[in-house]
Amino acid sequence: MRTVAVTKIGSLRDPDEQTRGRIGVVDFPDQPLGPEDVRIRVAYAAICGSDPHLAEGFFGTDVPIGLGHEISGVIEALGDAAHRNGLKVGDRVAGNFLRFCGTCRPCQEGKQQFCENIQDYNRPGMAETVTWHESQVYRLPDEVTLLKGCLLEPTSVAVRIADKTGIKVGDRVVICGGGPIGHLALQVMKRYGATSLTMIEPIAERREMALRHGAEFVVDPIAENQYERADQITGGRGYDVVIDASGSSRAVKGLLDIAAKGATVVYGAMYPADFEMPLNLSDYLYLKELTITGVFVSPYAFPRALQILPHLELGEMTEAVFPLEQATEAFAVHVSGAYPKVIIRCNDIDEEDER
Ligand SMILES: [Zn+2]
Ligand SMILES: [Zn+2]
Repeated sequence: MRTVAVTKIGSLRDPDEQTRGRIGVVDFPDQPLGPEDVRIRVAYAAICGSDPHLAEGFFGTDVPIGLGHEISGVIEALGDAAHRNGLKVGDRVAGNFLRFCGTCRPCQEGKQQFCENIQDYNRPGMAETVTWHESQVYRLPDEVTLLKGCLLEPTSVAVRIADKTGIKVGDRVVICGGGPIGHLALQVMKRYGATSLTMIEPIAERREMALRHGAEFVVDPIAENQYERADQITGGRGYDVVIDASGSSRAVKGLLDIAAKGATVVYGAMYPADFEMPLNLSDYLYLKELTITGVFVSPYAFPRALQILPHLELGEMTEAVFPLEQATEAFAVHVSGAYPKVIIRCNDIDEEDER
């Protein structure tokens, strides 16, 4: 079974070809179909901002490392006992790449993100097929195409970010970083009643895209003074909710200074493992009473992500599609930043209303 994988550890942005990481298509054995499993013929798998971190060896350095956790497809086979979700062969589905065991202590305490067996079914989905446990698989709404359906997983992250902000209707909200998670979070927060909704993003095209999808203000952190702009926009009070979706170590510290007193700051990206951010406890926690939190993975968010998916504007995130054989080129385009999202077509599955 052909699978897109990291075949050499290293930064994909390294200008030196000798040390640069590499993405290729390799042959992996088919995963076994257990009694409660579902085999999906993958239609689309989107490249995630976290995938280049895997190439850098963040989660291990034994290559090849199979990639792909944002997928959609059609059910090809079901295990004998895979019937509790009502799934059938031929169903159009997307899913959660993580299986939460439901049995360990964190799962029993309602904290599935800390499931102690979380890696058991972490199988790469940027492949011809993927076999997941039935609890990981969700039938797509009829009005969501397979192409857009592969964005269920990043949408679930945006939903979890929204959960962690504890937003109240009317809160002033700023999002730093106009990548896919930032854009999805923008749309989700808009529907949640965010006001003064602002995106901080250095790339002009992404700022314009944010304005098309609900941002009231955009800030270029390079050409503008983001602190002055934040003061103008919020009448000097700062934002009640601050979301980082940039993962940029240069951007993250300044976000504490545009947060209002009592604000919640969600660091909703993945950060370099050795990066430490200085934090003045007197200023930010004592005087400002900030709540600072993050997001690891997104349990409990998938059913609501499915509900909101048909209402999101996803057209601009589904424009760059490459066939599986061109995965290397697709990753080069992803790294270039030319498109907000790059998607791999893993199989040609006909859909009448694909757009
Ligand atoms: Zn992702
Ligand atoms: Zn568990």
